[in-house]
Amino acid sequence: MPRIALEDVEQRLSSVHCAICKASTFGIDRRTLQSDGECRGVCLKCRYNFPVYTDMEFYLRTQPDVPYRLRDISCSNCQHRGVSLDFRITMSVREAVYFVTCSTCQAQFAERSSLEAFE
Ligand SMILES: [Zn+2]
Ligand SMILES: [Zn+2]
Repeated sequence: MPRIALEDVEQRLSSVHCAICKASTFGIDRRTLQSDGECRGVCLKCRYNFPVYTDMEFYLRTQPDVPYRLRDISCSNCQHRGVSLDFRITMSVREAVYFVTCSTCQAQFAERSSLEAFE
């Protein structure tokens, strides 16, 4: 699974809203990029920042429940179930979001995660 480009991450973040000001333009602070693929997303309006995780291969290996959950997510475009996980963010303590690609039609969308509560 190749790691997603930060430009793609920035573009796809526009489908969610800032936990503070509700804007949806974000950047990735490249200086925060760590070798494990973690970096900080920054709201371009209020400068609120939050963790972005891009190493999903490691995440899926350490969170065995997640692949089952991904199989159960239905696509907002074609309604088929089953997606692959591209990256994830923790927008706030209460809001974790998965950015996924539909395995059937390749549509990309953001899905709120209900799993983070158990971490
Ligand atoms: Zn903001
Ligand atoms: Zn689909």
